[in-house]
Amino acid sequence: MKCPKCGSALATVRLENIQLDKCHQCDGIWFDAGEVETIRKKPLQDPEEILEMEYGSPSVHSGQTDGYMQCPRCESDQGRLIQHYFSYSTPVRVDRCQSCLGIWLDDGELNSLIEDRKQLQQSESVVQRLFQKLGRLFK
Ligand SMILES: [Zn+2]
Ligand SMILES: [Zn+2]
Repeated sequence: MKCPKCGSALATVRLENIQLDKCHQCDGIWFDAGEVETIRKKPLQDPEEILEMEYGSPSVHSGQTDGYMQCPRCESDQGRLIQHYFSYSTPVRVDRCQSCLGIWLDDGELNSLIEDRKQLQQSESVVQRLFQKLGRLFK
């Protein structure tokens, strides 16, 4: 598979037992449908740094793209990646294939998604504490 961003060959990496395809040239990562959701549920800290430590940044054969982002899985015209917003609290812009629903995350976007998830959990616990306080008031 080739990187939709820079055309380099994608390398297979593993994160929490999920097989992903990473571009060592531009540090983007390809997720098949549903994999982003699975990763987000895991208690990860800076997953991009984990991958970097484990796999390093080997040199890769660089390639070319045709000026638009093409899904690495789908060869057809339908495999163009389109902008999609992924969010719990802060929207993170990602590129998604309409055909296979895979998602391309640029460098830094995976960390943003994990951070976003953490923020949501924090605000949930704030609300919970608030309700506990209110509950005590009305006793
Ligand atoms: Zn790339
Ligand atoms: Zn696709």
